[in-house]
Amino acid sequence: YRDVIIQQNVDPKKYYEILPEVGRGSFGTVFLCREKSTGLELAAKIVSCKKKKDKLEVLKEIDIMSCLHHPRLIQLYDAFDFENKVYAILELIQGGELFERVIDEDFVLTEKACAVFMRQICEGIEYIHSRNIIHLDMKPENILCVTKTGNRIKIIDFGFARRYEPNKKLQVMFGTPEFAAPEVINFDEIFYYTDMWSVGVICYVLLSGLSPFVGDTDVATMTNVTLGQYSFNYSSFNDVSDDAKDFVKKLLIKDGRKRMTAKDAVKHKWIMESALNTELSLTKTKLKRYVIKKRWIKAVNTIIALKRMGARIDLDLI
Ligand code: ATP
Repeated sequence: YRDVIIQQNVDPKKYYEILPEVGRGSFGTVFLCREKSTGLELAAKIVSCKKKKDKLEVLKEIDIMSCLHHPRLIQLYDAFDFENKVYAILELIQGGELFERVIDEDFVLTEKACAVFMRQICEGIEYIHSRNIIHLDMKPENILCVTKTGNRIKIIDFGFARRYEPNKKLQVMFGTPEFAAPEVINFDEIFYYTDMWSVGVICYVLLSGLSPFVGDTDVATMTNVTLGQYSFNYSSFNDVSDDAKDFVKKLLIKDGRKRMTAKDAVKHKWIMESALNTELSLTKTKLKRYVIKKRWIKAVNTIIALKRMGARIDLDLI
């Protein structure tokens, strides 16, 4: 993969065949696609940009992706800006979302498996940070498995990523409250450590099937995050080692400056050697519930969005 330059006013359909949809986010729709000259299968993320500001945001995402080359990160193959739509041609990732894979019948969930995933996530983040970029949207939906059976993952979606500029105070107001760091919610200055909080939340959920700060509403969740209080006092954690808890503890620290960096995280004892092989069956049951609930929320949000656009909803189709 090379650095990509966005092609202006060139129809991507000249070079790529757009095939069925494979995924949908709040901004873009992702389709399977094939490069006509080589037959190579890829993914096309298409974002409609009605407003100039929207377009600038998407172009920024592409600009950031185009300079990140690492096996743990989704790779950009080509990009087009054509008739109010931006097309990002991406490497195709076939294994689906990490949490969907983890709840598969034939997947044996152990601490070791969690540590293998967490190591790769931290390696990806370490590289992103080394390129002076903060991801700012680390959450399970943005971690995909490379294949349906293997354990390799890739981080996707750089829609919220920002370049860190030392003399510029960076504050943001977006992300998912459940995974957002206290400094995001308090509208304080953010830094590389902001991603590491989210990594800590992902690891907590993976180990237990429970979400450490989630409340009944977004406001309740945000209050819990700003308090920064959480507990390992649930039966899901009965079979979880102290080293695993220590890994999470070193990330879920309110004061970002005291959090483990990505570089430290990949060297943590739990990641390097001590993760246990015991099966976490209660965690898996709880994770299933967690994933199903998320699917519901996503479906309801899609319906709300469609209704807002004036669509008549035929419930039989859902
Ligand atoms: P969000 O609402 O999370 O910001 P988005 O609109 O920016 O989403 P993505 O998260 O990039 O869109 O993609 C939406 C979905 O499409 C993903 O959750 C994933 O399931 C699927 N997807 C994205 N990229 C790929 C890819 N390269 N290969 C296969 N599937 C993909």
